[in-house]
Amino acid sequence: MIVFEHVSKIFKNNWTALYDINLNVNKGEFVFLVGPTGAGKSTLLKLIYCGDSASSGKLNVMSYPLHDSLSDAQITQLRRKIGIVFQDFKLLLDRTVYENIEFTLRVIGIRPLLIPEIVTSALNKVGLYNRKDFYPYQLSGGEQQKIAIARAIAKNPEILLADEPTGNIDYKGSTEILRILKDINFNGTTVLMATHDHIIAETSNKRIVRLENGKLLSDGD
Ligand code: ADP
Repeated sequence: MIVFEHVSKIFKNNWTALYDINLNVNKGEFVFLVGPTGAGKSTLLKLIYCGDSASSGKLNVMSYPLHDSLSDAQITQLRRKIGIVFQDFKLLLDRTVYENIEFTLRVIGIRPLLIPEIVTSALNKVGLYNRKDFYPYQLSGGEQQKIAIARAIAKNPEILLADEPTGNIDYKGSTEILRILKDINFNGTTVLMATHDHIIAETSNKRIVRLENGKLLSDGD
């Protein structure tokens, strides 16, 4: 589903953020990407969602060859199949929970008539339907992250990328976020979660890919 072959990423200032990465993530897997700050985790996720492009090597995501220049239409198609969750939630602060998810669905062209049911289902999956009329500032960090997850899964993605989703959240909230991500994975979505918190990864019984200084150090359970 995601195949990195000898992928490197060198930024304009000549900084090598990823070096000769080989990685194969199969459909339905849950993979932790673990490493200290600066290891290259965000850069690796960014390449998958076409937020940036590799400097060399081959990267295939759901059979889209990202190393060949894709058309804008292909990039849009690919992004529709990928949900993304960030450490800082990136919710629209002047819109309610419902409107945040509705907005994303409208942008990708979902028929307005279908939207209420999709939003309800996504909010039920994260257990926060009763917060649908709240604004982000009226929610805890953990709740905001659950809304960000609901927004990401509302478009029914094949891949969910989570970049330090528990980075701003207390222990209890982190445990709940992880449970939700595992549920999503159990229902068939491939999940790739970046974290500097190796304990979260090591206690989860999932595949762990370790990155350090842009290099893949190990890959295993
Ligand atoms: P992580 O997510 O593991 O904390 P990042 O992928 O954000 O790491 O960054 C990896 C390395 O690449 C870091 O050393 C960072 O400073 C560097 N880096 C990230 N973005 C850029 C950029 N746009 N230009 C130059 N260097 C960058």
